[in-house]
Amino acid sequence: MELESSQVPELRVRAINECPVRNKGAYVLYWMVANRRAASNFSLQRAGEWARSLGRPLVVLEALRADYPWASVRFHQFVVEGMADNLQAFADSRVTYYPYVEPEKDAANGLIAELARQACVIVSDDFPCFFLPRMLTAVAKRLDVRMELVDSNGILPLRVADQVFTLAHSFRRYLQKTLRPHLLEFPQDDDWADLPQLDKLPVAVTRRWPATSPKTLRDAAAFLTGLPIDQSVTAAVMRGGAAAAQDCLATFVKSRLSRYAEERNQPDNDASSGLSPYLHFGHVSAHQVFDAVMSADGWRPSAIAEKATGSREGWWGASPTVEAFLDELITWRELGYNMCWQRADYNRYSSLPEWAQETLHDHRKDPRKPSYTLEQFEMADTHDPIWNAIQNQLRWEGRVHNYLRMLWGKKILHWSKSPQVALEIMIELNNKYAVDGRNPNSYSGIFWTLGRYDRAWGPEREIFGKIRYMTSENTVKKVSMRNYLKRFSA
Ligand SMILES: Cc1cc2nc3c(=O)[nH]c(=O)nc-3n(C[C@H](O)[C@H](O)[C@H](O)COP(=O)(O)OP(=O)(O)OC[C@H]3O[C@@H](n4cnc5c(N)ncnc54)[C@H](O)[C@@H]3O)c2cc1C
Repeated sequence: MELESSQVPELRVRAINECPVRNKGAYVLYWMVANRRAASNFSLQRAGEWARSLGRPLVVLEALRADYPWASVRFHQFVVEGMADNLQAFADSRVTYYPYVEPEKDAANGLIAELARQACVIVSDDFPCFFLPRMLTAVAKRLDVRMELVDSNGILPLRVADQVFTLAHSFRRYLQKTLRPHLLEFPQDDDWADLPQLDKLPVAVTRRWPATSPKTLRDAAAFLTGLPIDQSVTAAVMRGGAAAAQDCLATFVKSRLSRYAEERNQPDNDASSGLSPYLHFGHVSAHQVFDAVMSADGWRPSAIAEKATGSREGWWGASPTVEAFLDELITWRELGYNMCWQRADYNRYSSLPEWAQETLHDHRKDPRKPSYTLEQFEMADTHDPIWNAIQNQLRWEGRVHNYLRMLWGKKILHWSKSPQVALEIMIELNNKYAVDGRNPNSYSGIFWTLGRYDRAWGPEREIFGKIRYMTSENTVKKVSMRNYLKRFSA
């Protein structure tokens, strides 16, 4: 059985098993794993449509496991703060919101199978990276009810492009040719007022997997200290959740967007949005960010240029600072999603462009002096106070300034035993400490430092070969970071 009429674009929906819809089931289940929000969410919209069409209640399960790679107090705190917001968002609605934080490793095993027994259909999020695609595919295979994944990742549905883009310029040009119709297809919010409400979840479910209490969600710190997650990576400086995401977006639009193009690369007067952690955990959607920015600019779709040139400026017909922001939010962000969606090896060294692998290979025997271990990098124990400050910001706050993040990666390449080891170190540190880590853009950023999305540069240098080179000395001359260094020096 197919859903007869859906406002969710077909290209964003795919069934991942061939099981039928169970018409006589008790509810429709939305298993929220990536778009952790109650608004601007195509998956939630689709699940609501199924519930309406079948005349069944809607259950939203938001679960958090303890055993995913790099699980720590930092990421748990951020996600649990989001759960508290979602609890509130669904509180007066007919949707049954079921938050579940795994109290010990493997405690959640069997939860989806049990919920699925009474589900008509299961909808979940199509996120192209980390352990999620593997987990969802494995679960779907074991079910006897239809499971769908919905892509609510970006403005361009992942399935539109059937190729990998190796340069931002070619992807930008492609976007300029294809994006227009998708700007008219934004996720619709619902109040679910006409849906039947579930009396209670099956006892077989809640007895074994009791929902995490509202009190725990609101004040999670003590609860988190008892969980088998990395306790050494402590809470980030920013609060998680949809409410904090909306605050962050509103403040950015009001106070920093106008100087974004000019000042985003200056660590001391940081003009960037700070939205990447919220985008990563789905506490805000790219559509919401786009809407807020374009409304502030007074933009209309009719301002879009007819001709696709691939140029960074001019196509949107928006103000220059907004165009600069959209180039990051859409071109660069969705370029990374395209790679993960198209290539299963997006996180392997062998996925680097050939020219980059060749030049790094040619320089594999160049002496590395100094050369540091993972532990030395992790503890910010290098000779370079600028690099150490960047690593301290990552470790202490859970975020890093974008421009400095590039330098951070380039120097890991410079001071590691080999480019392959550098890659491992970058992935480990970025994903362990950055709240926005474990995201398609973690891999595009890290691989960019090794040549992905870039071209060969001269002169050819030791270790780097033709890979773009950066130094702390030049960075400090180019950008204002005196206060930054004071703040993040140990
Ligand atoms: C070594 C390295 C590692 C990185 N790791 C991550 C990561 O783990 N997660 C992550 O989201 N980004 C990562 N990036 C990309 C970039 O640094 C961050 O997206 C950006 O700094 C986030 O800050 P912001 O939200 O204030 O960005 P803004 O400048 O305000 O941009 C708005 C949004 O556009 C997107 N964006 C901005 N810059 C980039 C970029 N260069 N590439 C792709 N998307 C971009 C992000 O979603 C961002 O939130 C990495 C870059 C490098 C060089």
